[in-house]
Parts: sequence; C-alpha cells; structure tokens
Amino acid sequence: MDLEEQSVIVTGGSSGIGKAMAERFIEEGADVVIGDIDVESGQEVAEEIGAEFVECDVSDYEQVENLVEKAVEENGKLDCMVNNAGIGSVKNIEEMEIEDYHSTISVDLDGVMYGCKAATPHLKETEGCIINIASIYGLVGDIGSTAYNAAKGGVVNLTRSVADDLAQYNIRVNSICPGFVDTPMTDEALKDGDFKDHVLNNTPLGRVAQPEEIAGVAVFLASEEASYITGVNLPVDGGWTSH
Ligand code: NAP
Repeated sequence: MDLEEQSVIVTGGSSGIGKAMAERFIEEGADVVIGDIDVESGQEVAEEIGAEFVECDVSDYEQVENLVEKAVEENGKLDCMVNNAGIGSVKNIEEMEIEDYHSTISVDLDGVMYGCKAATPHLKETEGCIINIASIYGLVGDIGSTAYNAAKGGVVNLTRSVADDLAQYNIRVNSICPGFVDTPMTDEALKDGDFKDHVLNNTPLGRVAQPEEIAGVAVFLASEEASYITGVNLPVDGGWTSH
C-alpha cells in the first residue's frame, strides 16, 4: 500500500501496537511523528525506525495541539492521525477508586478526543483520516476492567460521531478494536495462567495477536484502498466478538 510522503502521527508510538504501526507506516513510505509520554523510549524508537519524536501526554490538550503543530512544521501537512496511546486498568467496579476511573478516562478517552480535535483543521486541508485504537472492550463488556471498558466504549461511539461530523470534508474516521495483543501492556496479565486461559478460551483463533497484525490493518485504513470506509469500528480480534 503506497503511503509515499504521507504525514502520519502515532500517539503512544514508543511501544507495542503504536511502535509496530509507526514502523509499518514508514515501510510504506510515510513520514511519521511519534508522540509519547515516555521520552527515553520514544527517542530511542524514533531513531531506530526513522521517525521524529515529540514528547506528549495525550491527557493534556495543549500538549496534543503542540504535537500536531510540530508534525505539521516538520512534514508540511498532516494526512493521518493515529490516536493509539492508552493505559490499562484492571479493577472492577468494587475495587476501583474514583481517581483510577478519572485517570483512565483522561488518557484512554479524552486523549483520543483531543487527538481528533487538534488534527481536524489540518486534515481538512489534506482530506486525511483518523484512526483510533479502541478495543474489543469497546464493543463488549468483561469482568474486572470497568474504567478501561467505559473509556473504550466511549472511543467506539466517539469514532462514529466524529466520522459523521467530518464526512463533509472527506475526512474518514475509523477505529480498530483489537483483541488481546502481545505487548508490554498485556505482558504481566498474560503470565497469570487462569487469565491466559480466559483469553485463549474466548479467542476462536486460540492465540493472542502480534502487534504487526494490527499495524497492517492501520495501514489499510489509511490507504486509498479504504476510501469508502468511515465510521467503522473494526474488530481485529481472532473472533472474540463473533461468539
Ligand atoms: P503499550 O505497549 O503499553 O504502549 C502504549 C504506549 O502509550 C506506551 O509507550 C505508553 O508509555 C504510552 N502512553 C501511556 N500513557 C500516555 C499518555 N498519557 N500520553 C502519551 N502516551 C502515553 O500498549 P499497547 O498494548 O501497545 O496499547 C496501545 C493501544 O492499544 C492502547 O490504546 C490500548 O488500550 C489498545 N489495545 C491494546 C490491546 C492489547 O492487548 N495490547 C488490546 C486492545 C486495545 P508508558 O510505557 O510510559 O506508559
């Protein structure tokens, strides 16, 4: 898929799915700016894969605006905003402190909305696109992750609403809803045998995904091949939501 000279921002691009997406966009010819809260790893990854790095906490709107401005300064335009940065939260409604809830929502939902809002003026100029990284937990519930699931449910309907708002400018807005992916976010949890059984028993393909399997879908959604796809929350989940 040819993304030659496309200007792409990937938030949370220092690790896991974000890193795999940044790398794949570059392989397809895009110029990528990674925005991440983790400066050390962000700079290291950017150097390794040939991206630029801007420090950014996506829960702070001014920092997201700054990330977008820096990317436009660097590459002259913005074609694709990938709102990927996120944090896990593994507490049920009884265990969860109110502060946990707000901090999860501020990164996993507010951060995505900030990315959509800050990118819009620039995407209007390029008729570009937005890709949000939601989750199967935006489409279905499960035990033990109240705040995370609430945030991802928000991302799913935010994606539909922003797609409706921006269709008039020919800006496409979609989300990817991954099942379990082998990244630092899930590393610890998947070491727990009972939890791993829960995951594998609920995944018809019987395995977790590799980050590259999400990256390929992001590249497709950003490409001309997806020119008539907008407002979609696409499960990439080994069948988790099919049963
Ligand atoms: P990851 O390996 O932990 O990567 C997330 C990256 O985002 C890290 O570099 C992290 O930095 C950064 N980050 C955290 N908070 C941030 C903030 N406030 N501002 C900017 N950057 C921030 O996680 P991942 O598994 O690749 O997850 C990427 C996205 O996919 C998330 O939205 C996640 O919810 C979603 N997702 C993941 C899975 C899965 O199974 N892995 C499944 C469905 C959806 P630090 O390392 O310093 O925190």
